[in-house]
Parts: sequence; C-alpha cells; structure tokens
Amino acid sequence: MSKVEAKDKVKPAAPESTSLYADRQKVYPKAVAGIVRRTKWLILCLCLGAYYVVPWLRWDRGPGAPDQAVLVDMQNARLYFFFVEIWPQEVYYLTGLLILGAIGLFMATSLFGRVWCGFTCPQTVWTDLFMLVERWIQGDRNARMKLDQQPWGFGKVVKKAATHAVWLLIAAATGGAWIMYFADAPTVVRQVLTGQASTGTYFFFGLFTLTTYVFAGWAREQLCIYMCPWPRFQAAMLDENSLVVTYRDWRGEPRGKAKAAGMGDCVDCAACVNVCPTGVDIREGIQMACIGCGLCIDACDDIMGRLDRPHGLIGFETWTNLDASSRAAAPLPPGPERLKAGMAARRVPRFIRARTLVYLGVLATVGGVMLGSYVLRTTLSLAVIRERAPLFVRLSDGAVRNAYNLKLANKLRTEGDFALVLEGPAGLQVVVQDAPQDGQGRPLVHSRGDGISQWRALVTAPAGLHLAESVPVSFRLLDADGHVVTSTASVFLGPKP
Ligand code: SF4
Ligand code: SF4
Repeated sequence: MSKVEAKDKVKPAAPESTSLYADRQKVYPKAVAGIVRRTKWLILCLCLGAYYVVPWLRWDRGPGAPDQAVLVDMQNARLYFFFVEIWPQEVYYLTGLLILGAIGLFMATSLFGRVWCGFTCPQTVWTDLFMLVERWIQGDRNARMKLDQQPWGFGKVVKKAATHAVWLLIAAATGGAWIMYFADAPTVVRQVLTGQASTGTYFFFGLFTLTTYVFAGWAREQLCIYMCPWPRFQAAMLDENSLVVTYRDWRGEPRGKAKAAGMGDCVDCAACVNVCPTGVDIREGIQMACIGCGLCIDACDDIMGRLDRPHGLIGFETWTNLDASSRAAAPLPPGPERLKAGMAARRVPRFIRARTLVYLGVLATVGGVMLGSYVLRTTLSLAVIRERAPLFVRLSDGAVRNAYNLKLANKLRTEGDFALVLEGPAGLQVVVQDAPQDGQGRPLVHSRGDGISQWRALVTAPAGLHLAESVPVSFRLLDADGHVVTSTASVFLGPKP
C-alpha cells in the first residue's frame, strides 16, 4: 500500500447494536485544502459577517423613526430594510420574496444540484464553523477519534470543555444577533446584559442559542439526513443536465492500488470519504445524504496531484456527460487513452432548457410585479368601509343617510390636513363627525404622520332627490392646492325607487 493509500484508512469504531434502528456512526471529517474549501470559507465569512454585522448598520429615517437599517418592528408593525418600509397591509411583498426565494432555490438546484445545502444553508455554515473550532482545539480527524476512544482524564476534559465553551459562545452570539433584528441592537444588548430585557427577548435568545449549539455541535449531518425535508423532494428539480458532485467511475474503476496493473485512477485511499461531513462515499453514486459540498473533490484532487495524475476524478458533472464519457471510455483499457476519450466526449452543460426557462420566467414575473407595485405604491391610501347595519337610515324629514368609516394610512412621517370631497350624484351631502369645515364648506380631516387616522362620514340624500337603489360614489382627499392625493370608490344605498 502506498503512503497516500495508507494515510487515510483509519476508520471510526462502529458501535455494536441489536436495535432495529442503526446507531449513529459519528463522523470525523478530516481537514482538506483546495479550491472548493476556499470557496466555502469565503461564503462562510460573507454569510456569517452579514448575519452578525447587519443589525448594527444604521439608516437615517428622520426624527421619531428607528435608525436601524434592517429591523422587524413587531411593536409598531413595520418592517424596515434600508430605504424600504413595509406596512402590515403590504405583507404580500414578503410573500413575493418567499416565492422568489423558493423559485431561486429550485433554479439553483436544477443548474448546480444541492449547491444551497453544500455552501449556503445555515446548518452547513454553522456546522463548518463549529467543526473548525473542534479541529483547532482537539486536532484533526485521527486526533479526535483517538481522543474519543481514550478514557476520561484531565487533558480530555479540558479539550472537550474548551470546545463546548467556544461553541456556546458562538451559539450565544448567534441567538443574540437574532433578537437584534427585532429590536434596536444597542438597546437590546444593554437590556439583555443588565437583566432588563423582556421575557420574550430572553426566551428567543435562549431558543436560538440552544438550537445553534445542538444543531451545529451535536446533530450536524443527522439534521440534513433525517430532519430536513429538502433532500426528499429536491430530486424533482434535478435532471440529466444538472451539475452534481460525481465520481467519474469510468475513469476510476476498477479501483485499487496505484501500482497495480490494469487499474483505474481511484487508488481506494478513502480520502474522499474521510473529508465528507456526512460520511458519504461518493463512489457509490448519488445519495440523499450527500449535501453537494464538494469537499471530496478537493480531497481527491490532492491525491491525484500527489500521484501525478490529472485532477477531476471527482467533480461537478452532468449525468449526460457521465454517460457519454462512460460509453466513449468503455472499449479502452485504463490509462491515458481512456481518460482522453472519456474527457473528449463531454459537452458544455445545457444551462438553458425548458425547466430553467420556466423558473426564470416565474422569477422575472414575480420580481417584475413586486418591483412595479413598489414603484407605484402610494404614501397615502384611503380605505372606505360602508356601515351595513342598517344599510341606510331614513330621517324624519324623508332624507336618506348612509354611514362610512374612513381609514387613511399615511406612510409619510408628516401630518397634514385634507379636504374631503364626495364625487357622485349632485345633491348628495357629506359631513365628517367631529371634523371642522374649510372655507368652501368641505369637511377638513387631519391625518397623523406614520400611522392610520380614522373618521366616520355621513352622506345624506335630501328628501326629493330621487336616486337608484345603489349609486356609485367616490371619496376624495384634496391637499391645500386642491390636488387629489387619494381616492376610493364606494356605493350609496337607498330604498327602491
Ligand atoms: S475517489 Fe479519489 S479520494 Fe476517493 S478513494 Fe478514490 S482516489 Fe481516493
Ligand atoms: S460526498 Fe462529497 S459532496 Fe457529498 S457531502 Fe460528502 S464531501 Fe460533500
């Protein structure tokens, strides 16, 4: 056995069990270096950096408004994202974002397999960070396995305690960052540290600290394999042109010792298995437990490099290319000619195909609708709710009256006075309860800034004004210059003529 083959052959001890259910076999991923690993570190830094730093970014929205750039203000029912402010009645924007996220995920899976799981899923990112800490304190794969197998002693207690202490610190920072998205960050930190935060704040801080610690420190690949629903239906998004992490068996098989004659390029060193965070052997084909992280690519490239063979025995590959390479390589014995024939049979993956076009179409449509509605959204919007009990009232002088509740949502931070005008059949009169009138006898309503103002309006058809049973009317609000700032349609009901 060569040095390379022997190096990674250490296996974790398999627990004995008589249960019908398989015991968990602890995975001890080995450190690996390479382009995939570097990409994953970069993404990890970007994701964690954004998560921990964003609550501290400030954004000036004027006096009286929160200055946190990204804030879910539950108390005042607002969502702030830099210059965007979402009100409760605009929750459809969040629905749109969820649709965009879901379709984006479908599209990424269709193009590049489980790229979300392997590179950006929070479970992957935090588990990677926790494993890094574990490796720093307890050593790499073999040292960790040895540590777990040795009896408890001072050294083992110190290493394990230090690992869990750092994990808990990271988990607390994660839980702490989470609650900062729901309250002013400096204020909530001060409240938490001085014991003045609300019970709910402490609850969610504790909950996210605990889940981070348990999921990234203990559950790890178990969460991906048994708890996450995504691997169960992601296969529906994959097709023969999706790029997935694949072992090129046409090149690697028959696997065996490097120096043996008639063997493929796989020297059966198990380096790809030993770096795998879920303990998968990619040479057994596509598996649900494979999260597509690509670390086995780096591990195998390293081995191929040391054996002076071309990289790419494991790589991102489409099933179409794998099939084409296999057919081209089949007639040839293992060696450079077979490798050349197999690689020459590959084609550039088809990124533009029916399913990706459909995903792209849905993304463009939903994104376009959201953008359009955001650009056209008004800062003042009037809602009119007609009172239904009774539908109308006949007054003692024969007049007919309808009552309406008006609600003006003012998304500006400035208050203002508006004249209310009723557009409808001539003769209809409108008054607003407890509101003054302007110089032209029109009701003058006062709107508060950044909030909803409500009034009760009474519309009266004097006796002798003969109207249909139902006539359309429109309530309009005019600013001081006489411009219509908002209007809403309704109906005026009366007795049958
Ligand atoms: S695929 Fe590569 S890393 Fe895996 S066992 Fe074969 S040679 Fe080793
Ligand atoms: S088999 Fe490779 S790509 Fe799949 S999870 Fe393991 S290391 Fe990542």
